Amino acid sequence: MDKLFRDILTRADTFGEAFFTADEVANWRKGVFKQFLALEMLKETAPAETVKCLECEEGCWIEPEIRDGPRKGQAVGTYFCRRNDDIGLVKVDLGRKRRWEFDLKGLARMVAKAAGATGSPVETEPGRLAMLGTAKVDGKTREVFLARGAAWQDAAQVFGNCSRLKMASHAVVLTLAATPKEPLLAGCELAVRPLAEIADFQKGKLTVSLDGAFPQAKPGPWAGIPNEPITLDQFMVRYCEVRTKNLRRSRRKALHGAARNETVKMPPLAGPYESGQSKKYFVRDLLKSWHDFLDENLDLPPLLSQYKTSSPQALSPTAVQ
Ligand SMILES: [Zn+2]
Repeated sequence: MDKLFRDILTRADTFGEAFFTADEVANWRKGVFKQFLALEMLKETAPAETVKCLECEEGCWIEPEIRDGPRKGQAVGTYFCRRNDDIGLVKVDLGRKRRWEFDLKGLARMVAKAAGATGSPVETEPGRLAMLGTAKVDGKTREVFLARGAAWQDAAQVFGNCSRLKMASHAVVLTLAATPKEPLLAGCELAVRPLAEIADFQKGKLTVSLDGAFPQAKPGPWAGIPNEPITLDQFMVRYCEVRTKNLRRSRRKALHGAARNETVKMPPLAGPYESGQSKKYFVRDLLKSWHDFLDENLDLPPLLSQYKTSSPQALSPTAVQ
């Protein structure tokens, strides 16, 4: 495995180490930085406030003062070294403030391709979890996920309520480099393997061998839920906390009212709707949508804890600081 590639995976999987500075990437071997950019594994982000002073041995951190340059639209940076008074006003290349951060989407595309996963990768939890599609692992079909920050403190919160992960029949999860400290899904032993252990990156090409990497793949927690057509009332009875019949009826009306007003979006019907009958939806669609419905304060009964899911918007990446 290419050392630089492994270093990037390790850094990206370490909390609060998301940024690669211009000084750093300038030291990478020729051409490789462009390669990572082209692969969209790194993307440029807001510039740094400070750069390292190159004039003193201590290498102090300085915040360049930005002034107009001699030519129109040109900016120059200057600073005084804080450690050494002998050094006068020093010019600094403002390009050194540029920095790049790891991009999970780009890596997800690379890994999906290398692993021969079908379908296009979907970022299910922005910046943290991508579903790469399905792939053959030891001759069996598996849903392959790529997780970043699986050992971070918020891991249980971020991964633990992801409906795609819960719904998978046999999920296999690639972390970037780390091993989770706690199960990613409470009460469920997911098959997890660091990508850094099974990938190889040579001459700009990634190879990933999934065979033999996940001997312990097991059915997911929702694998046994039949994805059958169900009415809202039946759904509330089976998958939600207990409510009286009257209350369920009034909440069902409230939900349909909200759908008519377009404040919530109902999943597609499971079959043609016949007048006089209750509308039916697929169980998994309702499980996935329920969190969004709850956000609308319709006083719907919450899902039973084993069926809880997260709303992706509520989980912005907390780690990029
Ligand atoms: Zn200095």
